[in-house]
Amino acid sequence: MEFIEAKKKYEELTKKLERYAYEYYVLDNPSVDDSVYDQGMEELLRLEKEFPSLVTRNSLSQRVGGTVLKGFNKVTHERQMLSLADVFNKEELAEWVNKVYETLGKEVDFTAEMKIDGLACSLVYNDGNLSYCATRGDGTTGEDVTTNVLTIKDIPTLVDKKQGRLEVRGEIYMPKASLIKLNEEREKTGEPLFANARNAAAGSIRNLDSSIAKKRNLGGWWYYYIDAERDGYTRHSDSINALDKLGFRTNKERRVVHNLKEVLDYVDEYTLKRDDLPYDIDGIVLKVDEFKYYDELGYTAKSPKWAIAYKFPPKEVQTKLEDIIFTVGRTGKITPNAVLEPVRVAGSLVSRATLHNEDYILEKDLRVGDTVIIRKAGDIIPEVVKPIIEKRSGNEIPFKMIHNCPYCGSELVKKDAMHFCLNPNCNSRKIESLIHFSSKNAMDIEGMGDKVSEQLFAENFVNDIPSIYKLYEHKEEIIEMDGWSDKSVTNLLDAIENSKKNSLERLLFGLGIKEVGEKMSKVLARRYKSLDEIAKLTKEDLLKIDDVGEVVATSIYDYFNNQNNIELIEKLKNSNVNMLYLGKDDINETNFFYNKRCVITGTFEKYSRDEMTEYIESQGGKVSGSVSKKTDYVIVGENPGSKETKAKEIGVTILKEEEYYEIIDKNKGE
Ligand code: NAD
Repeated sequence: MEFIEAKKKYEELTKKLERYAYEYYVLDNPSVDDSVYDQGMEELLRLEKEFPSLVTRNSLSQRVGGTVLKGFNKVTHERQMLSLADVFNKEELAEWVNKVYETLGKEVDFTAEMKIDGLACSLVYNDGNLSYCATRGDGTTGEDVTTNVLTIKDIPTLVDKKQGRLEVRGEIYMPKASLIKLNEEREKTGEPLFANARNAAAGSIRNLDSSIAKKRNLGGWWYYYIDAERDGYTRHSDSINALDKLGFRTNKERRVVHNLKEVLDYVDEYTLKRDDLPYDIDGIVLKVDEFKYYDELGYTAKSPKWAIAYKFPPKEVQTKLEDIIFTVGRTGKITPNAVLEPVRVAGSLVSRATLHNEDYILEKDLRVGDTVIIRKAGDIIPEVVKPIIEKRSGNEIPFKMIHNCPYCGSELVKKDAMHFCLNPNCNSRKIESLIHFSSKNAMDIEGMGDKVSEQLFAENFVNDIPSIYKLYEHKEEIIEMDGWSDKSVTNLLDAIENSKKNSLERLLFGLGIKEVGEKMSKVLARRYKSLDEIAKLTKEDLLKIDDVGEVVATSIYDYFNNQNNIELIEKLKNSNVNMLYLGKDDINETNFFYNKRCVITGTFEKYSRDEMTEYIESQGGKVSGSVSKKTDYVIVGENPGSKETKAKEIGVTILKEEEYYEIIDKNKGE
């Protein structure tokens, strides 16, 4: 990216994030989910890394969020109240731990703690008496919220430390049950609901009327003993035990962990226990336990380098519906798609989601400009659940279905709930077939995504599937095009060349035969081993295959008996595209998964779900997407969701991640 372009992007992003930060820190009423903000911050940091001159003292990356509300007295913190750097998955966490080890030249202990989703506050005592309580504010200056905090019964006003200054920092939070009750009451009185416990706690403590905080049943957890070293402690964990003895509520889930494995186990443990805690946590905090390393590890402008926050992947998040666009599939089917402000859901970044058809959108009354809730259906596919009506400003645009194909302008035809472009020569279909052929689960040609396919088609360098394998003839012309370089063209051509060696099932799926999905492609490839054999099948032959009915059989038969397709396959053969099944199957009755129906749910440390499916099928098993009485095993990884619950309900055997690995190991060993 050019500097000018990056600067523009940086400024736009800053403007947007500043608005979000204002809504969050000042109004305690965010309009978007935290993960939208986090994602924006990640992007901002990426730009800063690439163009360091973008960073100024006022950059968001250099500031601890928050400002002081008028109406509260200001308090200058004796020592800055910093934020924490974030990581969003276990890999990043492991990287951070290893970096600490590397900097210090050895492995050290950490204290692992709950990351309480509340409002950071500092309690200052002089000669044993509480002097004041302040919010973090911008890190340097906070608000004096003593009157409000004193309504929290378990905060000690007198401590048995008679001399000198004592500063204790922690989080004021609202228990889950109190939030539910509060929102129920607000619903009855028609007041807007609090989106989460953090906003409810912050809104109560930062309210000028202290009777509000009193009613709201807040609590505090205290996790920093400032000046602990001065008072003779060498470890964070010991200092927190000391706070506990002095009468501060300290969180019992904390634990000293001694190595990376224990760190990751702790994360796993609390990913599961999280829902059962009576208060909300949004992650885990790790702090180097021994104070003597703090100076060596140092600080950034915003956070200490001896601590980190691991954020849990959100399951359901809010984001903005920026647009609704239409794609035309290979069959001419028109699909409306949500263009979303990018947001992280259950571990991955989501910016698009299918909206299926007109009725689906009208039923949910989705409008461009809405704040919407999205989640991953079946843990994988992003889905727009509903708009948040209360967040409408009135400028949202109600949905209207299009009547003409966005590519060729032909009038659309409605069949049941779907709209179709029936023009067989519509370019969109040809482009879609190229995109599909190159996609990850088909021929996996990296670099040949939507935009490139469209561009190469527009330039007439590719116009059908076989022409992909002739693209090298246009190498020089492509290099000359905007956005391309010698290296990127070479990479693309290499990816195309490599795809020739793919196993048959990928090719079959890539051809885009109606009714032949990934699964059916595998069934056919496994059974008949070569494309020529499949092309020879009669409808009767096809009907003998499990799960093949009249419609599928007709579609496959028609495809291979169509002159255009025969020529297309011939051209691919001439380009030396592999037409044989290369899978390593080992199907025999003694296999554990032989003839067993499995469902895979959650995420796994060693394998992707695709790899696991591949393995089970290579052993003669079947993998399906939903749990029923016919299911033999549900294989459960991390964050499994509703499938595990259903399996338990109807008594299907559950295989845990480790048990699955054991089965594989055993099989390999024999
Ligand atoms: P943070 O919440 O990511 O982490 C730092 C904070 O964690 C500390 O200040 C402290 O308050 C808290 N914390 C909880 N438990 C702790 C423990 N055991 N030890 C130490 N600290 C602990 O950082 P932040 O600077 O407070 O705020 C950033 C957060 O605010 C992000 O989660 C971001 O998504 C959210 N945010 C959201 C929006 C929005 O529009 N939705 C806008 C701005 C910020």
